[in-house]
Amino acid sequence: RCKTLGGNRIQVYNDEIRQSSLEQLRLEQDLRRALEERSISVYFQPKLELITGEIRAAEALARWHHPEQGNIPPSVFIPLAERTGLIDQLGLLVLELSCEQAARWYREGYNIQVAVNIAAQQVESGSLVRQVDRLLTEHELPARLLELELTESTLMEDAEAAIMEMQSLRNRGVSLAIDDFGTGYSSLSYLQRFPLDVLKIDRSFLVSDHGSKNQGTLTRAIIALGHGLGMQVVAEGVEETEQLEELKLLGCDFAQGFVISRPVPAADFTQLLQNRKSD
Ligand code: C2E
Ligand code: MG
Ligand code: MG
Ligand code: MG
Repeated sequence: RCKTLGGNRIQVYNDEIRQSSLEQLRLEQDLRRALEERSISVYFQPKLELITGEIRAAEALARWHHPEQGNIPPSVFIPLAERTGLIDQLGLLVLELSCEQAARWYREGYNIQVAVNIAAQQVESGSLVRQVDRLLTEHELPARLLELELTESTLMEDAEAAIMEMQSLRNRGVSLAIDDFGTGYSSLSYLQRFPLDVLKIDRSFLVSDHGSKNQGTLTRAIIALGHGLGMQVVAEGVEETEQLEELKLLGCDFAQGFVISRPVPAADFTQLLQNRKSD
């Protein structure tokens, strides 16, 4: 009896795997097509400078509207792209769209620095510097208006190669940020080794009303660490007004989160800038 049951279970399990890998395969094909058609879009989320209360920068976030399934979250299609080797193409498309928009804002007289998320494979591929050069030239975009967000795991893959690449990006004036700080590797030595301009504190370390007292201590310590190493500090995932006040008091430089605005299409972002100007 047990055997039969076990056998059935294995059968069900196999069917599930087959089903899900079939779905994965379909989704991969759909993503491939979306990339060919360039139908991936980019939303922009403002970063607020806390001392001036001005929007100075934006993070570019990839969006995929699937023709049948609707919006697929980045937490699904980014790992899919990473697994299937599509991330280079996706990353380049996002970089292109972001530089194009940053240049448009620049021409319109807005000094908005646009930050683009970069996956490990893009750094490893060795073509990032060349792509960035081409885009800055093509769009006549000042390098200081482009920031690249890297994660701890990205940097750990091949540290020496990554450092060289980062150095040449930085020599051009491109800004470099470490994203999701605190969620990856436990060693902090890389903060000294990598040429970084900005530290983004992960949402999980933010002060909150209903959080523990220790969270405030961590936020404070991370801000001090960043500043001590000559970096600017951004708090991400800020959802409450009280957090904004707290972060300002703690000397955090920038805040990003739903309390300021969700990520929005470029046109809405421009509207946001215009509304603030006329306030
Ligand atoms: P991330 O780079 O840490 O981006 C911030 C994420 O937090 C975004 O999620 C954003 O919508 C979300 N967020 C912003 N403010 C708040 C808030 O107040 N509360 C909460 N709960 N969330 C907030 P999103 O757009 O879903 O992207 C998720 C992740 O996917 C990104 O995390 C990034 O790691 C990755 N990703 C997105 N676009 C790209 C891309 O073009 N290339 C690469 N390599 N990764 C990307
Ligand atoms: Mg990011
Ligand atoms: Mg982040
Ligand atoms: Mg995050």
